[in-house]
Amino acid sequence: MQVLQNLINGKFVDVMTSEKLDVPNPATGERLAQVPVSTARDVDEAVVAAEGAFLTWSRIPVVERASYMFRFRDLLESHKEELAELVTKENGKNLDDARGEVRRGLEVVEFACGMPTLMMGQVLTSISRGIDEEMVRYPIGVVAGIVPFNFPFMVPLWLLPIAITTGNTMVLKPSERAPLSAQRIVELLLETGIPDGVVNVVHGTKEVVNRILEHPSIRAVSFVGSAPVAKYVYETAAAHGKRVQALAGAKNYHIVLKDAPLDKVIPVLMSSAFGNAGERCLAGSVVLVENEIADDFVGALQMAIDKLTIGNGLDPKNELGPVIREEHRQRIIGFIEQGVSEGAVLVKDGREAMKDHPGGYFLGATLFDRVNPDMTIVKEEIFGPVLSLMRVNNLEEAISIANRSKYGNTSTLYSESGHSARVFRETIQAGMLGINIGVPAPMAFFPFTGWKGSFYGDLHATGKDGVEFYTDKKVVVTRWLS
Ligand code: NAD
Repeated sequence: MQVLQNLINGKFVDVMTSEKLDVPNPATGERLAQVPVSTARDVDEAVVAAEGAFLTWSRIPVVERASYMFRFRDLLESHKEELAELVTKENGKNLDDARGEVRRGLEVVEFACGMPTLMMGQVLTSISRGIDEEMVRYPIGVVAGIVPFNFPFMVPLWLLPIAITTGNTMVLKPSERAPLSAQRIVELLLETGIPDGVVNVVHGTKEVVNRILEHPSIRAVSFVGSAPVAKYVYETAAAHGKRVQALAGAKNYHIVLKDAPLDKVIPVLMSSAFGNAGERCLAGSVVLVENEIADDFVGALQMAIDKLTIGNGLDPKNELGPVIREEHRQRIIGFIEQGVSEGAVLVKDGREAMKDHPGGYFLGATLFDRVNPDMTIVKEEIFGPVLSLMRVNNLEEAISIANRSKYGNTSTLYSESGHSARVFRETIQAGMLGINIGVPAPMAFFPFTGWKGSFYGDLHATGKDGVEFYTDKKVVVTRWLS
């Protein structure tokens, strides 16, 4: 049985702990590996390594730092099928989704290859007679990344390539529920010949996170995960003087207007709501449909759900894989029960599929109709294959309901009307918008711009925000006297 090791100063090392957690394949329950629960001392060792490496790595020319990313990109590209399989095995999403995840992670590495351009400062000559002014950027020091289970390959790569090509060194804490992809990422990174200590990995749970948040030598923390933990990370790390970006949970509203072509909308919404078993921070989880088309829409959704194939994501015929753990499945079932008790109409009950798929943490697609904005299933993030449908009179009503949400990660409008799309863009309170796009994930060169309770901080992950987050600026005003 593989027991994962931490990566400290370029070497994989055993963790001195008796506490280990199983990492099962959620499709079968079979144990894939064990992950050690590291302690604060392990974090301290990783930080010492990162601090030591920073002294030289930060002074290596940025073109040279970027050259490691070119090699890294080639290695990831040549291992992409193996990596996608690993994502499917540890997370449960189907192979197509896992391939997409690998692609999106690779794109950030490609983005970081351009760091010599991205890190450039600004110059303005003659701000006054004979005086010039320039702004130059520097890496900030040791930074930390704390990541979730749902994109175990992509999310570490939202952070790592930008953090290190800007000249920082890093301590990464993978999700204890899906740590294998992050482990493989750093194995491949070491193959590029990157200097020891530039990236360190500490596996574990709360204790590791708490030490990261308090450690005096860590300058910045990037967190991606659930809303309560994001808030805690933001507040604690900020109280310890750190720069923080904390990407949090979500509840995403999709709006379907009567002019939208139903046959085209259904597959897009199905993939948004039930792809990755609904375990996406950009998953559509509430759909607001104009009254005139609502009955037809529910009928078409029901038919599409009936056709969904459920099973192990390694089999290409399967569309809906398992959720991450039995406890998580039980939590989702709790939400379904609550929806029923609060009076929502259960059109499709995903629990029925469970008996046909023993062994893994499978749950069929669930559809609720006639929900209202005060129901728990509408307000809280379920993070599973559950879609709630609400009937509305028009776009304005839909937007005002969506804007009551405490979250604001993403929202999608289905319509062919430019006017409606403009009203939607101008008034919806969410940071990533789709117009007929079910999962409007920004590309690596754009920021991942959650709003409201979906994000804590100022500078978002990826894009130029990522470069800003991982750099300090100096402004120099110059006058030559002779
Ligand atoms: P999670 O919050 O449980 O875990 C995220 C990280 O925090 C893990 O590394 C975990 O070990 C650590 N952690 C968990 N509980 C902790 C605690 N009490 N104290 C300290 N550290 C703790 O999140 P998850 O379940 O792994 O991931 C799913 C969540 O992440 C969903 O809410 C999803 O919406 C969110 N997410 C958000 C984005 C985004 O961009 N906004 C992207 C991906 C996932």
